[in-house]
Amino acid sequence: MAFTRRNLLAAAPAATAITVSGPSMAQSQLSAQQVSLSRQAPGFYRYKVGDIEVTAVHDGFARWPLEGFVRNAELAEVKKAMEAAFFPQDALPITFTTLVLNAGGRLTLIDTGNGDSGAPTSGTWMANFKAAGFDPAQVNTVIISHFHGDHINGLRLKDGTAVFPNAEVMVPAAEWAYWMDDGKMASAPEGLKAGFANVRRVFGPMAKDVKQYEPGKEIAPGVTAVAAPGHTPGHTTYVVSSGSGKLMVMSDITNHPALFVRNPDWQAVFDMDGNQARDTRRKLLDMAAVERVQVAFYHAPFPATGHIAKNGNGYELVPVQWMPSI
Ligand SMILES: [Zn+2]
Repeated sequence: MAFTRRNLLAAAPAATAITVSGPSMAQSQLSAQQVSLSRQAPGFYRYKVGDIEVTAVHDGFARWPLEGFVRNAELAEVKKAMEAAFFPQDALPITFTTLVLNAGGRLTLIDTGNGDSGAPTSGTWMANFKAAGFDPAQVNTVIISHFHGDHINGLRLKDGTAVFPNAEVMVPAAEWAYWMDDGKMASAPEGLKAGFANVRRVFGPMAKDVKQYEPGKEIAPGVTAVAAPGHTPGHTTYVVSSGSGKLMVMSDITNHPALFVRNPDWQAVFDMDGNQARDTRRKLLDMAAVERVQVAFYHAPFPATGHIAKNGNGYELVPVQWMPSI
């Protein structure tokens, strides 16, 4: 039978009948609220990089107004890119995905999500982390890519509680040097001052224990730091490798791939040095495309991993296929 609109419509009543007779007595007694139809399954996804088990953990999303979001493109152009990605025309849904690396029972977390300080539509990280079978007390190392709130706020709740009591916290030395510099804070534009204050709120109480790392070194089992400045002064990406497995963790070299992987010259309002961020973005995207290596982005659609293909003057993120086991 060929599928036409007509026979699809004709088939609908039969399908409905199956659904109605399907649920058991117990299920049919649940109220709509109890079955909570608006909720997804917990947001975690596992994959392997050699012997390292990677778990992507989702922290919800924030809707960001489109107007003014891309510094160096006309709004009409940005809307066109949104339309091409089947997104709404007014606001971009920006998602957050951290990575938990399990290397022989040692847990390393790369970035921490929003904690209890994000948009009302974020803050789902802890529930998803626990649903994935983890406990915050088990985390051995937390690696931070840069000091924006959506990456560090998961370290400390608003009431001051440290979330990972047994973890060594590792931060880029260049990032620490910038954000902890009182002179830089004093001379920062007004809009950036809250960012400086937040960095001090999160790291202040643990400042003496925070370990600063330099790029180009293996900083945790299988994790090598790669300098990727521009988004922030000390913004860092990582190569995770184990055996023949390799993953480039791109952190925030792009915000949403539908805009910035496709248009790598576009500069998001969060890129502190726009030109340097563009150069870094182009360099790393090109490397990923040439090497055909798997990549992960903090702000890509969940599970936020795939491959990079060259496409004209830009690139395309090709998502991995969901696999039921690893
Ligand atoms: Zn970010």
